[in-house]
Amino acid sequence: LIELKNINKWFGGFHALKDISLTVNKGERIVLCGPSGSGKSTLIRCINHLEAIKDGTITVAGKEMANDAKSIDSIRREVGMVFQSFNLFPHLKIIDNCSLALRRVKGMQRDEAEVIARKYLDRVHILEQADKYPAQLSGGQQQRVAIARALCMEPKVMLFDEPTSALDPEMVKEVLDTMIGLAQDGMTMICVTHEMGFARKVANRVLFMADGQVLEEAAPDEFFSAPKHERAKAFLGEIL
Ligand code: ATP
Ligand code: MG
Repeated sequence: LIELKNINKWFGGFHALKDISLTVNKGERIVLCGPSGSGKSTLIRCINHLEAIKDGTITVAGKEMANDAKSIDSIRREVGMVFQSFNLFPHLKIIDNCSLALRRVKGMQRDEAEVIARKYLDRVHILEQADKYPAQLSGGQQQRVAIARALCMEPKVMLFDEPTSALDPEMVKEVLDTMIGLAQDGMTMICVTHEMGFARKVANRVLFMADGQVLEEAAPDEFFSAPKHERAKAFLGEIL
């Protein structure tokens, strides 16, 4: 479903991603972890062209990323993204946050878009908040709205960049449970997270990054019980 081949990314003179290749098949759940600054966010941001790459190729759902707006748009339609900060539009009601892209990007009428928005708000168990504004919701609720908003576009893959790290501890579980539900429904997911319980439960592969490279790749049980790379051992020592 996703194929990255020999991706290199530079920020000025800084080599942020070093020759990364990665294939993600339909239905896979990848957890990406590693120390701060290792390139995790940069890597997933490349997949929907929030960052442009210097060289290498990115293919999503059979479409190869080119540098023109049309190609970028057509790939972004396949990819849902959820960030650490929820990035909801503060001046729009929850229902409008979710239906906006359906109207603007997919050209749907308001009624039709709202039916879909309600379906996904229901899916993340927050339909009763549809007519509120983001500031009236808790962090965990806002993050579930962000997930629903991404799902409305019916993406083939969902990218998560530390979706729970800005949340108060008591709200982490409701967001992780939502993500677990998505995984159980067969969604292809790439999640940057340090929630190792989630990784163990949901991931079929854990990738460990450091210094712009993927240093280790393993099944979660294997990675957590017997990390091979020294950097991975040190990292797990710090977070577990
Ligand atoms: P964290 O766990 O802190 O989120 P990360 O693994 O997601 O870290 P990235 O945000 O991908 O790391 O950053 C990788 C490296 O690239 C870092 O050294 C960062 O300073 C650098 N970097 C990221 N974005 C930019 C940018 N827009 N301009 C310059 N350097 C950047
Ligand atoms: Mg990051």
